[in-house]
Amino acid sequence: MKAIRIEKTGGPGEMRLVDVATPQPGAGEALVRHHVIGVNFIDTYHRSGLYPMQLPSGIGVEAAGVVEAVGEGVTHVAPGDRVVYFAATPGSYATHRVLDAKWLVKLPDDLSDEIAAAMWLKACTVEFLVERCARVQPGDTVLVPAAAGGVGILLTQWLKSAGATVIGTTSTPEKAEIARAAGCDHVLNYADAPKAVRDLTGGKGVDCSIDGVGQDTFESSLDSLKMRGLHISFGNASGPVSAFNLGILAGKGSLFVTRPTLFHYYATPADFAAGTGAVFEKLRAGVLNAHIGQRFALADAVAAHKALEARATTGSTLLIPQDVNP
Ligand code: NDP
Repeated sequence: MKAIRIEKTGGPGEMRLVDVATPQPGAGEALVRHHVIGVNFIDTYHRSGLYPMQLPSGIGVEAAGVVEAVGEGVTHVAPGDRVVYFAATPGSYATHRVLDAKWLVKLPDDLSDEIAAAMWLKACTVEFLVERCARVQPGDTVLVPAAAGGVGILLTQWLKSAGATVIGTTSTPEKAEIARAAGCDHVLNYADAPKAVRDLTGGKGVDCSIDGVGQDTFESSLDSLKMRGLHISFGNASGPVSAFNLGILAGKGSLFVTRPTLFHYYATPADFAAGTGAVFEKLRAGVLNAHIGQRFALADAVAAHKALEARATTGSTLLIPQDVNP
């Protein structure tokens, strides 16, 4: 099999495609042959060292494919099953992978590998953000920075289905169009955000900001909130939010701030079943429509990371391993 590995953390060029022996699954594990690999911003944090991990390491936390073998005790999937997964440990940028079978979810016939890999981790993220973290109610107004991104598009779609008004921000007119097509009621440039958000909300501010951009939008997201509004900082695309004086939350209106992560909201089997069940319901209802902005060969993972970090992508990014399969 072939896999992208990093020996040390750093820029995209640290990722190298290498030949490795195909592992066999142990108890509780499964061997999956990947058809499509989902690229997520978190992959760049693992690669850069922002999120520390043991080295050398694989990269990537999401893929769709077919089960080739299962270890002892695995009963919910079997060889031949089409599956999708996100997993806490990196290693999905590869033609094959052995992982804890608990992450694997069987794919229905009408859900393609491409769509599954384009949205699985992102849709589960959106589920916990909207339903369990923000607890969005019909009539709420929500600010979504990077609304044309992989998570941003699905987040907008889910928020609209929950009855929210969505104000998105994007960096270019082309991205603004994509955010509007996803359902944003209003799309702003980042620089206009706090003032234009006040204007759009009659001076009140939004109920909630769900912000994956991080450092660069932290202040403007707080300044866009209503009194006692909620800021959910769920990512670091522009860099992590560093320590700040808690007093600013009082000064800006007794605000709430949280920094959640998917794996804490999908930590128990019950949470996992409920969260993934809600995602399948939204898929069946036609609420979620993945926007696949770009595909790269697995061998071109470096180019995929460069594009993501240069803000040159829209929607979801995929790696396709077929061309490097033996
Ligand atoms: P995106 O497709 O959204 O890509 C990131 C986008 O962020 C860019 O396209 C860009 O949009 C915007 N951006 C703003 N400033 C910068 C910058 N300085 N550098 C790069 N991008 C910037 O990525 P994902 O959908 O994969 O992830 C979105 C966010 O969600 C990430 O922060 C990720 O870490 C987070 N996330 C968090 C999870 C969690 O459990 N907490 C789970 C999944 C994702 P524009 O050009 O319009 O500004």
